[in-house]
Amino acid sequence: MTRTMFDEIGLAWLNGGGPEPATVRTASEVDDLPGLLATAAILRDAGHGDVISYSRKVFIPLTKLCRDVCHYCTFAHPPRCGERCYLTPEEAVEIARKGARAGCREALFTLGDKPELRYRAARAELDEMGFATTLDYLGHVAGRVLRETGLLPHVNPGVMSRDEIEALRAVSVSQGIMLETVAERLSERGGPHFGSPDKVPSVRRETIETAGACGVPFTSGILIGIGETRAERIDALLALRDLHRRHSHIQEIIVQNFRAKPGTLMAAAPEPPVEELQWTIAMARLIFGPDMNIQAPPNLSPGMLARLIASGVNDWGGVSPVTIDHVNPEAPWPELEQLAAETAANGKTLVERLAIYPAYARDLERWVEPALVKPTLDHLDAAGFARGPDRWSTGKAGEHVSGLPSAERPRGAGNDELDAVLSKARSGERLNEGEIVRLFEARGEAFGRVVAVADELRREVKGDAVTYIVNRNINYTNVCGYRCQFCAFSKGKMSENLRGRPYVLDLDEIERRAREAWDRGGSEVCLQGGIHPAYTGDTYLEISRRIKESVPGLNIHAFSPLEVWQGATTLGVSLNAFLADLMAAGLSSLPGTAAEVLDDDVRRIICPDKINTDQWLKVMEMAHGVGLRSTATIMFGHVDGPQNWARHLLAVRDLQAVTGGFTEFVPLPFVAHEAPIYLKGRARPGPTWREAILMHAVARLALNPVIANIQTSWVKMGREGALSALNAGANDLGGTLMNETITRSAGAQHGQELPPEEMDRLIRSIGREPVQRRTLYQASEAERVAASYGAAPLSEAINTPAREFVREGT
Ligand code: SF4
Repeated sequence: MTRTMFDEIGLAWLNGGGPEPATVRTASEVDDLPGLLATAAILRDAGHGDVISYSRKVFIPLTKLCRDVCHYCTFAHPPRCGERCYLTPEEAVEIARKGARAGCREALFTLGDKPELRYRAARAELDEMGFATTLDYLGHVAGRVLRETGLLPHVNPGVMSRDEIEALRAVSVSQGIMLETVAERLSERGGPHFGSPDKVPSVRRETIETAGACGVPFTSGILIGIGETRAERIDALLALRDLHRRHSHIQEIIVQNFRAKPGTLMAAAPEPPVEELQWTIAMARLIFGPDMNIQAPPNLSPGMLARLIASGVNDWGGVSPVTIDHVNPEAPWPELEQLAAETAANGKTLVERLAIYPAYARDLERWVEPALVKPTLDHLDAAGFARGPDRWSTGKAGEHVSGLPSAERPRGAGNDELDAVLSKARSGERLNEGEIVRLFEARGEAFGRVVAVADELRREVKGDAVTYIVNRNINYTNVCGYRCQFCAFSKGKMSENLRGRPYVLDLDEIERRAREAWDRGGSEVCLQGGIHPAYTGDTYLEISRRIKESVPGLNIHAFSPLEVWQGATTLGVSLNAFLADLMAAGLSSLPGTAAEVLDDDVRRIICPDKINTDQWLKVMEMAHGVGLRSTATIMFGHVDGPQNWARHLLAVRDLQAVTGGFTEFVPLPFVAHEAPIYLKGRARPGPTWREAILMHAVARLALNPVIANIQTSWVKMGREGALSALNAGANDLGGTLMNETITRSAGAQHGQELPPEEMDRLIRSIGREPVQRRTLYQASEAERVAASYGAAPLSEAINTPAREFVREGT
């Protein structure tokens, strides 16, 4: 009977609906803690998998004066002679700077409630600093911390009015107030909240309601063990649920256990036993369901983390490597390594989040002020968590590379399911979208497992050879009429005015570069450029003919589906006819660029005027149909996420199953530094290290067996990064390039050429065998290979200015 009740609540949640208050109250009478905990843990796993999150923060106690006098509190104290009432802005910024140096991302402002209404000293100090209220001052200091350190403020200043909430929304990504209790009687004489006007439950509820109306991601929770009954706890949780149902803004429910502190009126009061804490956490999970973030502070229950995890928590709250917990100074935060180890010992992975939780961070335009969007995006990964401890960044030289994660089989819930997906991929069966997303979500040991299986599969399919091609990039013009928001390469009247000057290469220069590539052992020229408004299909045909006539042995790998589409359109011929003409003119194969992410939800944001997903696929299908092979790429890490990536991989796989025309798949991590969409604060700063590595690994798995070659781009990944990708499923190191300019324009710093000697050295450094190949993966001829070593330096390239496209002042 008792189990059935919890089971029914659990099942109702899994089917999309939570329990009514009467059901919750009945369930709260059932005396079956193990049954309750089991259901809570199942619900937590359904919403959060194996992730337990935390926020790496600094604690900034802007003032410890407070007009309230809660009987359990050691945080607040009256003004002290010779001590300032408030931290100065410089002191607060310095704490935040220390935090930034220690990798923190959250500045937690916790402070006393309106001390100026109680203490003359506080009024005088605010006056001297030019602020009317503590909350005005908080807004000023939080703004400085945000601007000067990049840490994202979360403010916890007590009861607030609508104006105050709105003002603080401009300088913080989240706000909070503990409801603590709904028992008004605890504010009566003898109760812990007697004499504390801001602890009256109705007042606090109003603040939470108003924050919801203002669209503020909000944290709240209850304090247990201060004299309330279990029924009152349930009432408090149900009250919070009502508020959340009205505004969807409560991002976290904290269940905090009272700790008796010496020197307080409640120093001798009994603390709640851990079973009581577990019961309350589990009831909170039953009331709020799988998706809510339920937190219990780890420092208030040392040695009990396993029991908290078993109760259904999915978050440890803020943990600081720099500052103490000023509210509970006697209870140190656990070391993060220890917290990670204890979390892992319980089958979970510790993952850093921001002060704003993932579900809210994935919808920033709704939940934070426009000015907060870019600073928040800079800290975000694709799932809405923090970017992680490594500061690797696409295209940046000298960045720390974390290496690959351990390949140990992870413990805990959900890993049988992960293994099932991995086995299915290895067997060559087509994964579905959800299964691919599951692979992209892998973190911690599960990330290591995905990488290890992809690497094993690579060895089975391709052995230990690492191929590369000696080739030359020729970007024939950077003038372009399109407005792709990620592109820092194009120049033109209609495009963003970024680095470099507009140019067009004439046919003689293109021919000269092609000849030089051949002389330096090249077997391929890769031609791409902007879509010059004056170019037609004839331009592409002329370029192809000129190269073919001049250097017949070179493979011409050129013109993405966008150029093909535009070329056919400008000539008024069918795609098929134009592709056949290009072949006749000497074209050997197509680069699979312009794919970006093959999901129109993403394309509408990053390249709204470019060909859409169906058009890209159609050109590729036609090209494969006339006998042209092509590569396939994905350009990821901007506004996209695992679901978009899964759709992209499936679109490529499904076409390959029909045509067999793709030679390889090439992950191209987004290089943000100079990209318009990043500079405008509308994109993340590229993928994280984990995401970049996973893209290679998941591509290997999801495209098995239809695409056997996974290429890694040294230009974007960097040398060390590319080597890591070769140990994560990739088997090809791309081209020597000779003249890479597109990625360089976007701010990449890994150079323009990686000569064969360096390619060989890198590949051998990881115990693999370098093999020079041609475009379609046949071994390169001995004569080509011999010519590629000790090649003469490149002569100076001539980029003929396109004067009509130079903007004034550039
Ligand atoms: Fe033009 Fe290509 Fe850049 Fe888009 S990505 S703006 S089409 S050069």
